[in-house]
Amino acid sequence: LQDKLNKAIKTLKGQGRITEINVASTIKEVRRALTDADVNYKVAKDITDRIRDKAIDRKVLISVEPGQLFVKIVQEELTELMGGEAQSINIKGDPAVILIAGLQGSGKTTFSGKLASYLKKQGRNVLLVADDIYRPAAIDQLKVLGEQVGVEVYSEPENKNAVQIAQNAVSQARKSGKKVVIVDTAGRLAVDEAMMQEIEAVKRAINPTETLFVVDSMTGQDAVNTAKTFNDRLNFDGVVLTKLDGDARGGAALSIKTVVNKPIKFISTGEKMEALDVFYPDRMASRILGMGDVISLVERAQQAFDEDEAKRINAKMRKNQFDFDDFLSQLQQIKKMGNVKDLLGMIPGMGKMIKDLDIDNDSFKPIEAIISSMTPKERQRPDIIDGSRKKRIAAGSGTNITQVNNLLKQFDEMRKMMKKMNTMQASGKLNKLMR
Ligand code: GDP
Ligand code: MG
Repeated sequence: LQDKLNKAIKTLKGQGRITEINVASTIKEVRRALTDADVNYKVAKDITDRIRDKAIDRKVLISVEPGQLFVKIVQEELTELMGGEAQSINIKGDPAVILIAGLQGSGKTTFSGKLASYLKKQGRNVLLVADDIYRPAAIDQLKVLGEQVGVEVYSEPENKNAVQIAQNAVSQARKSGKKVVIVDTAGRLAVDEAMMQEIEAVKRAINPTETLFVVDSMTGQDAVNTAKTFNDRLNFDGVVLTKLDGDARGGAALSIKTVVNKPIKFISTGEKMEALDVFYPDRMASRILGMGDVISLVERAQQAFDEDEAKRINAKMRKNQFDFDDFLSQLQQIKKMGNVKDLLGMIPGMGKMIKDLDIDNDSFKPIEAIISSMTPKERQRPDIIDGSRKKRIAAGSGTNITQVNNLLKQFDEMRKMMKKMNTMQASGKLNKLMR
């Protein structure tokens, strides 16, 4: 989607003067990009029709920066379509009860752990409930996550009645002063009538303050059908879109919102407990437009980053003075923040590059070794690294010349990208787009 939109927008930007035909073909490209990303054809057509009307209304053709204005209109339209504002979950109640539903493997248990951790960090007293009576391993999985995030897990391994377990858990929560109960349920197939009835019964019995439907964003058009089936049965309050790591897919977000008209409330971008973000329609729109989810990245970074260090590095980035010492320091910070691949995926232009790579935190060992083998001067001014220095660095770090060359090249590209972003920011373009 990102590729196609980029292309469509380039068509507009590339031209000094924009003709009507040009807009028409760009609109067509945008529409195709949306349908390719599993947005229902009719929805995509409605969106692009509105975009065209707005473009005419706001005189895109005779504006100073037609391409920019067009991108802004697309961005606004997508934002609006995805609900406009970020939607919070309802955690009022004594206790508030959150029911988690969705297909097997969609990421319910992982999300339950993340949500528990998220709410705990807000100072709430949380109880996780393992309400999966079919797989004993499911209870263990939740227990491991609960332990990891420091939240108690309620389970009744012997009990084969999901309704009872959920009820018992809620009354136990009330007794022990827990304020939020998160009920993780068994995965079910939408076609499995018995299991659909079971979750309906659980819902009736515990009367949750919030029912969340968890869906794997990689399942494309199926995600929409599943959402519809679950919504018909459960009338859920919000959607959690999982597995959005690294990839810039927004198709599922767009179509689910339109088809079931329920807000997307959270997105999940990795297996680690930190990889949970509130869903911001405007950021998702930017992400779809290939801007990268910069704001989410910054927010997540702030949780773990040493703020002074971040400020210092940021200032250097702005002055285009970012060097290998800063790079090393950032790598180390990033490793504290969670999965590197998730984070890199949020940097503009990165998602595409790393999508198919197998990156984990260990992948950075050779990089750290190479940087450590550089002299302070080389770290500050990598341009002085000539052939003999490269040889020395490779030998010192236990790597080879190719690896050193690759790192130098990547670093150079990164600096170029930062420079480009700085220029964009300086000219106000980025701000206009991100607004
Ligand atoms: P459940 O059956 O719905 O409870 O799904 P699980 O929470 O057990 O998740 C199924 C698999 O997907 C596990 O291997 C998770 O680690 C993985 N998973 C869950 N959420 C995410 C995510 O946001 N990103 C990625 N990459 N994997 C995820
Ligand atoms: Mg599960």
